[in-house]
Amino acid sequence: MSQSSLSQNALRYIQAHLRKVENLPHPSEEWTAIEKDDVNNNYLEPFSKRGIIKKKFKTKNPSSRGRNVWMYQTDKKAYDTIQRLVEERDTTPGFLPCNHERFKTRDGKVICKSCDEVWTKEEVNKHNE
Ligand SMILES: [Zn+2]
Repeated sequence: MSQSSLSQNALRYIQAHLRKVENLPHPSEEWTAIEKDDVNNNYLEPFSKRGIIKKKFKTKNPSSRGRNVWMYQTDKKAYDTIQRLVEERDTTPGFLPCNHERFKTRDGKVICKSCDEVWTKEEVNKHNE
């Protein structure tokens, strides 16, 4: 069934925003955004638009002062893809000595965009020898 496979749209989004989606709960769980400190509320609409998470039903949540909140469930295909990409990312040696990939340069220094570690070009070159 086509509705059980991950769309290209969702896959591209996951690849581009892995850090936003990596903490989504296991698909066996139904959850509200309020319960999940490590899930950023503002990100949920783009996720659900792409089928990465599913809106299940609205429920009264005691911690939202009786307001109705959405129960979500992470799509299983999306979840599996996220876990695979996170594993690949974490086991692939990165360009920088801290094993991250993304960086900016300032004053001749190389600054990691993931952990803010500062490297000299020599250190980066040595790491990639
Ligand atoms: Zn780093």
